[in-house]
Amino acid sequence: MLYPEEFEVIVVGGGHAGTEAALAAARMGCKTLLLTHNIETLGQMSCNPSIGGIGKGHLVKEVDALGGAMAIATDEAGIQFRILNASKGPAVRATRAQADRILYKAAIRRRLENQPNLMLFQQAVDDLLVEGDGDGARVVGAVTQAGIAFRGRTVVLTAGTFLDGKIHIGLDNYAAGRAGDPPAVSLSARLKELQLPQGRLKTGTPPRLDGRTIDFSQCTEQPGDGMPGAASQGANEGEIPVFSFMGLREMHPRQMPCWITHTNERTHEIIRSGFDRSPMFTGKIEGVGPRYCPSVEDKINRFAGKDSHQIFLEPEGLTTNEYYPNGISTSLPFDIQLALVRSMRGLENAQILRPGYAIEYDYFDPRSLKSSFETRQIQGLFFAGQINGTTGYEEAAAQGLFAGINAALQCRGEAAWLPGRDQAYLGVLVDDLITKGVTEPYRMFTSRAEFRLQLREDNADMRLTEIGRRLGLVDDARWEAFNRKRDAVSRETERLKSTWVNPRILPAAEAERVLGVGIEHEYHLFDLLRRPGVKYAELMSMDGGKYASPASAARNELPVAGAAAVTLTGVSRETLGDLYEPVVDQIEIAAKYAGYIDRQRDEVERAAHYEQLQLPADLDYMSVSALSIEARQKLQKHRPETLGQASRISGITPATISLLLIHLRKSG
Ligand code: FAD
Repeated sequence: MLYPEEFEVIVVGGGHAGTEAALAAARMGCKTLLLTHNIETLGQMSCNPSIGGIGKGHLVKEVDALGGAMAIATDEAGIQFRILNASKGPAVRATRAQADRILYKAAIRRRLENQPNLMLFQQAVDDLLVEGDGDGARVVGAVTQAGIAFRGRTVVLTAGTFLDGKIHIGLDNYAAGRAGDPPAVSLSARLKELQLPQGRLKTGTPPRLDGRTIDFSQCTEQPGDGMPGAASQGANEGEIPVFSFMGLREMHPRQMPCWITHTNERTHEIIRSGFDRSPMFTGKIEGVGPRYCPSVEDKINRFAGKDSHQIFLEPEGLTTNEYYPNGISTSLPFDIQLALVRSMRGLENAQILRPGYAIEYDYFDPRSLKSSFETRQIQGLFFAGQINGTTGYEEAAAQGLFAGINAALQCRGEAAWLPGRDQAYLGVLVDDLITKGVTEPYRMFTSRAEFRLQLREDNADMRLTEIGRRLGLVDDARWEAFNRKRDAVSRETERLKSTWVNPRILPAAEAERVLGVGIEHEYHLFDLLRRPGVKYAELMSMDGGKYASPASAARNELPVAGAAAVTLTGVSRETLGDLYEPVVDQIEIAAKYAGYIDRQRDEVERAAHYEQLQLPADLDYMSVSALSIEARQKLQKHRPETLGQASRISGITPATISLLLIHLRKSG
């Protein structure tokens, strides 16, 4: 049957890529249809109940800055929040939240159901309607399992791990899209018939535990930021963070701690005893898995010298006893899973609610995509998410948003939107995928971005919200809040740059209190803020403005108090409310890091000139600690002769090249 209406954008798949794609296209005014297996699983987290982390949090903030759903849904569902790397530079600071998976799905579904221009429909898609052939092939719709044909001008395919998915537990395996869901077999066959270049990848997940059977008194409590005892356990004191630029702390549900236990020698023995029945080690699984999210058997095999691994016990939600043991992803047989779980402290009597498993699935070589994510072979067909060889909810959401935008732009007859590598992590992700392809599931790291000092979480809105507004993605409320923030930052920055502090009238004690030392000549406030340790709020507390003047011309003839003095009160919580902290953050970061940002840009540009630089033949890359483990392994394996060759190894980023260059200079 042909469905009576035609759509502009049809999105297949209601995971993290598909939901953002559908919401974006509909926000941009396109008549959009989201076709998915099951409406109950919209926004389902297939694996760990957490969003964000280093590199990933950056993507979530960018999706948010463009009006996407992931960050705000996390604010509504987050039961523990942390700012990772809080004591490090702002480029690598990242938000991570533990989410109640039921609340998260509900938050996503509510947005989808209330989004104008968007229709939801539950059915498996088995076929694509394609007209023409060769260079003229064009997708014109999708056909469901029950034979309902939906016509659409563009189709965004976001089938995740479902294409010809096969689950492995020990030496047993069966067809599935993920545990409890059917695979997409017919659609996979159709894509093969269309001769789109493809391969197999795999990923895995741990067994889930019944919290009633965990002895938490034997585990170490791990609170989130702003929770009691935070500082003593490595979290940050103060307020609980929010994820979205539109997020409020009041949105957060009750907060919960995580717990930590460890594997031990006995656990490792049990794991080793299952190697001969491991689908990975016996060759049953052909797909390559994510190196940085290895299964526990892989860890024990690769890092044989390590006698213990930390395991986080993460609550799956407020209304369930289910716990996710982060760190023991496994596809070993179930008897081994049960024994290895019970060998750990606090888990001696643990009951498993769901077994761990690995899943193999088809992915499509992203090098066959145009930079808009439209396939080169079939016009109007876009791919996004895990289907492009990535792993992770955040990577999927960012790609979904991107493909949804470009499908909508194509319907409008406009050119694709292609963010640069210096503009967004999204630009880095897209560029990496389409130029380098993948040899293993790709995940985002800050080290992949050569301009990471300017691609920070905190300024994702400053980088992208205006673009989002132009594209039609950003609603009035977000736009208004963004403008208030941007205006406050630029007004206050200007004021700081034109307000001078005079050493002749600044008492030594006051200088000592706020700046740590006296000043030898006049400075404007922005300059003083550049100094390490000087905080904006303290600068504003300098005794009521007796020492400052707005008039640079008169800065040496300042009256002691009164006449030309200005108030130093600056921006305040009273006037800015929830925007106060983000505004002050922007001003402080701009003052303190401007020099580094400029220097990094020069460094990356210079690296381009070192194309022919010979690399020492005996260089031990594994000992270059500035590089990521992934980069070290790749360089050690390929042993490039020149820096230029090194830069073209898949997965070696310009940032890695810069770090390598610094290492070579230092080692003479
Ligand atoms: P998915 O979330 O898989 O969503 C795909 C959607 O498409 C589903 O709603 C599905 O029902 C629908 N669909 C598929 N085919 C059809 C069809 N033919 N017709 C209609 N609807 C269809 N990520 C990590 O970062 N770390 C991990 O450790 C990790 N482990 C994982 C372990 C497992 C077992 C699995 C399954 C995934 C794991 N992931 C992990 C990956 C993470 O779940 C995915 O990266 C992310 O969910 C991908 O989002 P997506 O939208 O591309 O696809």
